Amino acid sequence: VTLTAVRGTGAEAVRLLRDLIRIDTSNPPGNERPAQELLAGVLSAAGVECELLAADPARPNLVATLRGRAPGPVLCLLGHVDTVPARAAEWSFDPWGGETFDGEVRGRGAQDMKGQVAAEVIATAALARTGWRPARGELKLVITVDEETDASLGARWLCEHHADEVRADLVVNEGGGGRFEVGGRRFYTLGVAEKGVFRFWLRTHGVAGHASVPGLADNALLRLAPVLERLRNQPQIEPTPEGTAFLNEVVGEEDRGSAASQLERLRVHAPDVAIGIAEPMLRVTLAPTKVKASESGNVIPSQAEVFVDCRTPPGMELEAVYDRVRSVLGPLAGDVEIDQVQTVIGNRSPVDTRLTAAIREWLVRTDPDATLVPIAMAGFSDSHWFRRAFGSAIVYGFCPRRQFDELGARAMFHAADERASIADIELATRFFWELPQRLLT
Ligand SMILES: [Zn+2]
Repeated sequence: VTLTAVRGTGAEAVRLLRDLIRIDTSNPPGNERPAQELLAGVLSAAGVECELLAADPARPNLVATLRGRAPGPVLCLLGHVDTVPARAAEWSFDPWGGETFDGEVRGRGAQDMKGQVAAEVIATAALARTGWRPARGELKLVITVDEETDASLGARWLCEHHADEVRADLVVNEGGGGRFEVGGRRFYTLGVAEKGVFRFWLRTHGVAGHASVPGLADNALLRLAPVLERLRNQPQIEPTPEGTAFLNEVVGEEDRGSAASQLERLRVHAPDVAIGIAEPMLRVTLAPTKVKASESGNVIPSQAEVFVDCRTPPGMELEAVYDRVRSVLGPLAGDVEIDQVQTVIGNRSPVDTRLTAAIREWLVRTDPDATLVPIAMAGFSDSHWFRRAFGSAIVYGFCPRRQFDELGARAMFHAADERASIADIELATRFFWELPQRLLT
């Protein structure tokens, strides 16, 4: 089906995005049903088979299917329709107004991720209306609820309770597609992995005593101070498949073999890209966020602790993470107890696959001088549940954004004054219109 047949669908996606923003799906509590019914209505009217699957009747997931003429791969366009809440007083416009202004759609969810959802839904509906069907395989659209909390009613629940309905070979989700520039060259990110999340208390011990006689006590809080000071440092830079592929594309391969020196070169030319995108991919990060010591103002604490939010390269397990933590603590490591609170091992898909090739092919035709580069996201999305449930599935984050660059768009996730470029929504609609035609032939 030619591009002329898609004329007008970009504008249709923008209208749908505005309508979606006007339906408040702040999670908690979510209340996604009206949004899902709106999407199911658009798809059903175009002849796409729709099913609402709900663990909670107020919060159904949407699974839509365009079946092919012969068996083949299942391509799933994934999205979530819930958003994080917004505090209207902190915004300079109505978070649920869905207004357009200055070439942008404004409102909560414009970036994360009602814009991508609108593009996916309208592209699929437009394909169905023209009579297109996959020659082989199946096109699936899975729009989840509850992504912004723990997915227990959304992707996680779907993958556990309705695996047959959502099983896919190739999945395109959020978490990539942003543009950035280094030395006049243009790049778009492909989210191939997500870092792990390890959260723990680091605890020091002493001897309690009355605050009026400090000499008789051993203050655990003072033992914690040098531990905190040590956390100014981060564990060493270490290569990962995503990080290495990223550096080889962006910095060049002359320095191949030393991720640290490639990163240093990038830091000179594009410090924001080095710090914001590359560096988190190449190491365990440690960020102290909370401290606790004595409950009483006049009692010297026998224990004190600092809470650490630690993000880890995909696949890295507990013992290896603790090695990195001990390396940062140095000689203090022996005096510090680690109390693990949360463990989510990071996940990844391979970097070079036929899905990469199809996305790269599209990108080269759309923006001929641009290069596609893999990234590992520091955050966590529904991709995790699909990678876990369907071992061989290739799951990527990609929604092309040309107007807002990668770091600018990231800054808007979960923040005030969230908005999306109308041109980007149109671009994304073209992408989701073309990808299934490219892959399901
Ligand atoms: Zn999201």
